Amino acid sequence: MTGFTRSQWKQMAAELALPNRAFINGRSVDALSGERFETINPATGEVLAEVASCQAEDVDVAVSAARKAFESGVWAGRAPAERKKTMLALAQLIRDHLAEFALLESLDMGKPVNDAYTMDVPNAAGVLQWYAEAIDKVYDEIAPTGLGDLALIRREALGVVGAVVPWNFPLEMAVWKIAPALATGNSIVLKPAEQSPLSAIRLAELAAEAGIPDGVLNVLPGLGETAGQAIGLHHDIDCVAFTGSTEVGKLFLGYSARSNMKQVWLECGGKSPNIVFADCPDLDAAADMAAFGIFFNQGEVCSANSRLLVEKSIKDAFMEKLLVRVRAIRPGDPLDPQCRMGAMVDRSHTDRVMGYIEAGRKSARLVHGGERIVLDRSDCFVMPTVFDQVSNDMTIARDEIFGPVLAVIEFEGEEEAVSIANDTIYGLAASVWTEGLSRAHRVAGRLRAGTVTVNGVDAGSPMTPFGGFRQSGIGRDLSLHSLDKYTALKTTWIKYRA
Ligand code: NAP
Ligand code: MG
Repeated sequence: MTGFTRSQWKQMAAELALPNRAFINGRSVDALSGERFETINPATGEVLAEVASCQAEDVDVAVSAARKAFESGVWAGRAPAERKKTMLALAQLIRDHLAEFALLESLDMGKPVNDAYTMDVPNAAGVLQWYAEAIDKVYDEIAPTGLGDLALIRREALGVVGAVVPWNFPLEMAVWKIAPALATGNSIVLKPAEQSPLSAIRLAELAAEAGIPDGVLNVLPGLGETAGQAIGLHHDIDCVAFTGSTEVGKLFLGYSARSNMKQVWLECGGKSPNIVFADCPDLDAAADMAAFGIFFNQGEVCSANSRLLVEKSIKDAFMEKLLVRVRAIRPGDPLDPQCRMGAMVDRSHTDRVMGYIEAGRKSARLVHGGERIVLDRSDCFVMPTVFDQVSNDMTIARDEIFGPVLAVIEFEGEEEAVSIANDTIYGLAASVWTEGLSRAHRVAGRLRAGTVTVNGVDAGSPMTPFGGFRQSGIGRDLSLHSLDKYTALKTTWIKYRA
């Protein structure tokens, strides 16, 4: 628990200073055009702040500051052990500002403040710490040549990294890009999502306080079609790390092709299957996690377990257990520490989710939820929704809804389960519930997903790679493997007299 009551959170929210300018070359600045856009608290509909709306010209300024910082060696030239100290200081500053970040996340995009306080913010600090501690323990290579040759294979920072991130975990998604890029010595130009720019701006301010040099970490709030596109098309950005929808991810591949062939790393959408076999070791745990897997963060999770595949022989028993859990969840005030489901990110996204629910009503059987509700004058709340008797060709089983909508699909036997699970354009995550060791390995091996969790949902850690097969993306975040995205290998041959 947070240790704060609802009224304490409300009081802190009322007193909170909201960062609303871009952070470029070590300073808070307005957009050159002076334009601003509103960021709204979806739980109340109130305008929180008018934020600098950066455009291509601001991206140019930030990229040239980032390039200059990179070339000067002020960060890239520091020993990894020195970069580590600064990054650890930043991780500590995030922890020192835990309640402030939790509030920024909750107010800006509607998630329960308690979740941000206990998960998002500590996890973001943890990822920074992990890369800080790792980077002075990563060795380069020497090739096994014969005498007379020494071939060094070294990892070098790429230079300027563009990062474009979504609104569902604003701080964490930013840190997943920033931490490995900073650790390897790059400079960064990051655009947060327009719905949730506040925490990334605050992070940049604290990075300067921690000692990250001017120009190394620039945060430019702005719109996708302007600032986002300008990052994608920029000729002096060496790589783009993107998290967001598959549709926009594809645009970034096009931007790269039309500009300088920058590397493009994509973490995109998902439609993850959660397969419950009849030999599931603990149906109660599976029911708990099936509900958590789709309703956590209002279902606005790329790896949400949005397709629940249940074996026919246990289906009725399992649905009974599941629905008991689902009935206990209701959307509420995100600043209430008891709240388990907050507001959807904005009205247009809520409309989109409701559109899918309407489509589902026409094809499948609605067994819980389906309503949009109004709380505190905002209509951005959606009841946890469960559709039964879904077949995998229905729209609600194919499209990423990115909301609290679960599609339940019945199957018989392993073969059918695997074939339904893999029948999707995505491949981000999957879960399997079984007692059989052989089945666990067999099915995990056949599922086309970047992460398979057996007897759990959505397991993850900074230690393990996260990302997808197929149209869920290209490349992996987290773990030492993500260092590959922000570095290039250089081979240096040295000839000597043997
Ligand atoms: P989105 O619409 O694709 O937006 C992601 C980012 O791209 C935002 O910063 C957005 O700016 C920007 N953008 C939008 N249109 C653009 C354009 N034409 N050119 C350049 N940039 C553009 O995604 P979202 O709605 O924010 O987030 C939800 C999606 O993210 C889901 O599909 C989810 O699965 C995915 N996601 C994936 C992961 C993962 O790790 N695989 C994690 C979290 C979320 P604006 O904010 O101004 O639109
Ligand atoms: Mg907002």
